[in-house]
Amino acid sequence: MTIRMLPDNIINRIAAGEVIERPAAVVKELVENSLDASATQIDILLRDGGRTQILVTDNGTGMNANEISLAVERHATSKLPKDDLTLVKTMGFRGEALPSIGAVSRLTITSRPHNEEAWKLFLEGGKKHILEPASHPYGTQVEVCDLFFATPARLKFLKTERTELEHALDAVQRLAMSNPDVAFTFRDGDRVRFSCNSESDLIGNESALLRRLSHIMGREFSENALDINAEREGVKLFGYAGLPTLNSNTSRHQYLFVNRRPVRDKLLNGAVRAAYQDFLARQRYPLVALFVSINSEKVDINVHPAKTEVRFRDSGVIRGLIVSALKHALAQAGHRASTTVSDAALGALKPEERVKVFDRAQGSFQKNRMFKDQSASMSDFYSPLSEDIPGLDVAPNAKISTVNSDHEEIYSVDHPLGAARAQVHETYIVSQSEDGIIIVDQHAAHERLVYERMKKALEVGGVLSQGLLIPEVVEVSDVIATRLIERAEEFAELGLIIEKFGNGAVVVREVPALLGQTDVRALINDLADDLVEMDSNLSLRERLEEVCSTMACHGSVRAGRQLNNEEMNALLREMEVTPHSGQCNHGRPTYVKLKLADIEKLFGRR
Ligand code: ADP
Ligand code: MG
Repeated sequence: MTIRMLPDNIINRIAAGEVIERPAAVVKELVENSLDASATQIDILLRDGGRTQILVTDNGTGMNANEISLAVERHATSKLPKDDLTLVKTMGFRGEALPSIGAVSRLTITSRPHNEEAWKLFLEGGKKHILEPASHPYGTQVEVCDLFFATPARLKFLKTERTELEHALDAVQRLAMSNPDVAFTFRDGDRVRFSCNSESDLIGNESALLRRLSHIMGREFSENALDINAEREGVKLFGYAGLPTLNSNTSRHQYLFVNRRPVRDKLLNGAVRAAYQDFLARQRYPLVALFVSINSEKVDINVHPAKTEVRFRDSGVIRGLIVSALKHALAQAGHRASTTVSDAALGALKPEERVKVFDRAQGSFQKNRMFKDQSASMSDFYSPLSEDIPGLDVAPNAKISTVNSDHEEIYSVDHPLGAARAQVHETYIVSQSEDGIIIVDQHAAHERLVYERMKKALEVGGVLSQGLLIPEVVEVSDVIATRLIERAEEFAELGLIIEKFGNGAVVVREVPALLGQTDVRALINDLADDLVEMDSNLSLRERLEEVCSTMACHGSVRAGRQLNNEEMNALLREMEVTPHSGQCNHGRPTYVKLKLADIEKLFGRR
C-alpha cells in the first residue's frame, strides 16, 4: 500500500463533483463571480444546453494577468481578506469554482481591469496552457467549452439539452431577482430567452424589486402581491407574497433568498406553507419572493459547496418571523381576491380571446389552471344556517325575491359587495355594486364565514357544541378509529365530542353548534382523511385550524339552496367584515367582480 498526496488536477476534479454537477452550476458560479466583481451588465450564452459552450461576459472590475493565473488555483480567492468566514459579504468565498470548472472542461478566461491591458488564459482538463495578451473591453469573459469532457461518467448523467437549459435559466433568474440593479441577457444559441434592464428607481408605486419580480414571475404576480416588511430580533424580512387566489400546483414559484443568496430551504418552505394553510388546498402553492436579511454571524452558508443551503443559528426566530409577517399581510388584504379571477371571467366571456398559456420565460400564467381544483369534500347535505347570523334564519324554501327597492340605496353606495339582486342556479348570488356586478359563490363564501367564526370562537375559549339527540355510531377501520380517538381532546376544543365504540368505530355525541345539521358520517370520514395527510410539523393550533377548515365545509350552505334577499344581503355584509372572505378555505375565490367599465367594453360601448 502506498499512501500519496493526490495531484492538484485530480483534487480539482473531485471538488468539481460537488460544486459543478451540471451546466446550471457553472452558470451560477460564473454569474456569482460577475456579481461579486460589481458588474452591472451580465450576458450569458449557452449552446447545446451548455454542453458544448457556456459563455459569461461582464463589465465588472476585471483581473490583471497575475490575478487571472491565481484565480484558477485551488482555494485562491480575493473574497476572504480577513480569514474570517463569518464576515462573508460576497457570493463566493471558497475559491473553488474556477479551478473545478477548469479541471473538467476547456476553459478560457479573458479579462481587463480599468487602466490595464487585457490578458487571456487557456486551461484544458486542469492544465494551464498559455497566458497571452488579448484584446478585450473592460470586464471579464469566461468561456467554458466541452464541459465534463475530462469526466465522461459525469457527462452521461446530463439530462436533455432543454432540461439543462431550463435549469441554467432558473439559476440566472433567481440571481436576477435578488439583483434588480443589474441587467442580464440569457441566450440559447442565437435566441434570446431572457433579458432585463437594470431597475433602480421607484416608478409610480412599484419598487425596482417588484418590477424585476414582475418581469420574471409575471405581471399577475405584481398585480396581486402583498408587500412584506417585518423585523424581529435584528432579522429583516422583505419581499412580496401573492394573494392566495393566485396559486399554482407546484412550489417552484416560491423564491427565497438569504442575504441576497437564492436558497432552497425546507424551513422557509414550511413557514410559507404554515402561513397560507388557512387559504389553500393541499397541493396548491402560493407565489412568493421573500428576502431574509440577517447578520452573517447568525447564519452558516458553508453547509454545502454549492451554497444553496443555509443553517440558521436560531431557526425558530426566522420561521416565526415569516409566518407572522405573511399572516399579517394576508389578514390586511381582507376580502380582496386576485384580479386574475375577474380577468379570467372576462376572458371567458369574450369569444375571441384565447386563454393564456403559461410561459415560464415570460413569467405569464396560464389562467385556467388556477382554480381547477374542486373542494375535496363538498357536503351533499342540507344544513341550515345557524341562528347567530342576523337575517339568515329564514325557511330554506322561501321564495326568491329579486329586487328590493328599500335596500337598493343602502347597499350600493357604502358596501363594496353591493346589493343582492338575484340568485341564479340556486348557487350564485348576483349583486350590484356602485361600479359593477358581483357574482358570489354562496357555498364557498359561507364556508369561509363559518371557518372564520370557528377560529374566532376557538380564540375566545372554545367552540360551542350541540348534543345529538341520538348519538351516531360511525364505522371506520381500526387504525382510523385509534387515530381519531388520539385526537379526541383536540376535537373537543372544536366542539366535536367523540368516543371509542368497540373496535373500528367511534360514537359521535356532540358536534360544533356552528355547523347546524350535519352529516356526521361524512364529517368523520373527512376528518380521518385529514389526519392521514396532516403534517406532523404543524403546531396544535395549526392542526386545529386545519380541522376547522374541514368542518366548515360541512357546515356551509350548499350550492343548490334557495336564498331570499335578506339572506343574500346578510351574507354579503358579513363577507365585507370578515377577514379573508375573498377566498374559500381551498384558495378558490368566493366572488368575482366584473367592473362596469369592462362590461361596457364587452358590448363595444367603450
Ligand atoms: P471565489 O468566487 O469563491 O473567490 P472562484 O474560483 O469563483 O472563487 O474565483 C476565484 C477568484 O477569481 C475570485 O475570488 C475573484 O477574485 C476572481 N474572479 C473570478 N471571476 C471574476 C470576474 N468575473 N471578475 C473579476 N474577478 C473574478
Ligand atoms: Mg466564485
